Amino acid sequence: MPDISGDLVLFNELVEVLLKEEDQHPVADRIDANKLYDAIDLSLNASAMIDDELKSVLKDVLVSTPKTATNLFFNQLFGGRQGKAVLGDLLAVMLNTSMYTYKVAGPQVGIEQEIIRQSCNLIGYGDQSNGTFPTGGSMSNYMALVMARDAKDANVRANGMTKPMVIYTSIESHYSNTKNASFTGIGKNNIRYIQADSEGRMIPAKLEEQITKDLREGLVPTYVNATAGTTVLGAFDPIDEIADIADKFGIWLHVDGAYCGGVIFSDNYKHLVNGIERSDSFSYNAHKMLGTPLTCSIILVNDKKHLHDSFNTEADYLYQTDGDDFNLGKTSFQCGRRNDALKFWTLWKSVGTDGLKEIVDQQFELADVAIDYVSKNSDYTLYSNYDSVSICFNYKNIDPEALCTALYKSQITVVGFGAFKEDTFVRLVTINANNKKLDILNFFKLLEEFVENNPNLATIEEATQELS
Ligand SMILES: *Cc1c(COP(=O)(O)O)cnc(C)c1O
Repeated sequence: MPDISGDLVLFNELVEVLLKEEDQHPVADRIDANKLYDAIDLSLNASAMIDDELKSVLKDVLVSTPKTATNLFFNQLFGGRQGKAVLGDLLAVMLNTSMYTYKVAGPQVGIEQEIIRQSCNLIGYGDQSNGTFPTGGSMSNYMALVMARDAKDANVRANGMTKPMVIYTSIESHYSNTKNASFTGIGKNNIRYIQADSEGRMIPAKLEEQITKDLREGLVPTYVNATAGTTVLGAFDPIDEIADIADKFGIWLHVDGAYCGGVIFSDNYKHLVNGIERSDSFSYNAHKMLGTPLTCSIILVNDKKHLHDSFNTEADYLYQTDGDDFNLGKTSFQCGRRNDALKFWTLWKSVGTDGLKEIVDQQFELADVAIDYVSKNSDYTLYSNYDSVSICFNYKNIDPEALCTALYKSQITVVGFGAFKEDTFVRLVTINANNKKLDILNFFKLLEEFVENNPNLATIEEATQELS
């Protein structure tokens, strides 16, 4: 057996460094991209390196890597750190199983299946439901589209596309929908982007109109993607109404809950995905709302037959013992597959379903703090005044792109900007459930101080003029 005790000591030492650093410098020292290779020794060389030198390089890397777990990181649809999930992920690294067979993964198979079963129960899928853990939300959407395609035409798997399929998603949906249309052979030009209402939700009447038109032209409507938490606004498409249309025309309904599908854990916010039980597939990222380390994405399928039909291929060299129910490789995209389930299971096991609910509710509470603050202060304009953990606003008419970039370059806080229809704005994401009310108020305080000290930031008008 290799002795890794020294490496584990080193690991603990480095984690101490990182945690202290996060505390003292919540926004990492930023290295200019074009100076990166001069600033840290990233080179790989022929000769070995002694541990002390390696330690020193690793410290440099840790200190300057963007810190996503701190209370000043609002840039992404993930953030913070759930200790019990970290524990599970570290154990997954030590176990280093692959999830394709029971022979290799043992109880990890049951861990994955328990999460899937409980998730299916939460959304009201029936006995025949199941699921898998793809590499992320984009891959979950891809697998859903493949199943929809095969459900519409079982012949595709063997012979390729023969029918002129078309698919539907809102203009506000994630960009993986576009990529996936290419990957599945359906083609980017055969996506219909359905308009959204003023709050960023797909307009069902527009969807129906488009489907009817496509049918008249002899095309084959195949798939509709509804989003639970759009990437910019965090809006929820009206699933129930979309399900009516999908039912009427016999179209696969997938719900992309990568961002906010975690609401299924909260009695308070579950209503945002009303009708979810009527979908054919649903995916959510535990690494977003539930705070596990990346990546932890789950796709659930109302009828597991589809998962099996689209992803099962016999392989004698791999599947040598146990039944299909235990050999998860029969329903996954990959062959070797990382154990992403354990970290979610350790979290869920330790805090219970009630604890997961609290995590989700905390994010909405923080969002309410931000919405309240922004809407009561006339220096701000709010663009998202409803249930969403993406709070979109502008401050004193300052160009949001200039503001976010300056805040980042000055290491004040890391926050991004987004656009919806004609407006561009700062997008504050309150997904870090470790944060408290004070952290959100502190964000606004820092932003206001920064603007005060930097009177030359471009206004929205100046930025628009520059463009035109
Ligand atoms: C994040 C996100 C995705 C993509 O998930 P990845 O795990 O990053 O691939 C898909 N859809 C929505 C709505 C998202 O927010």
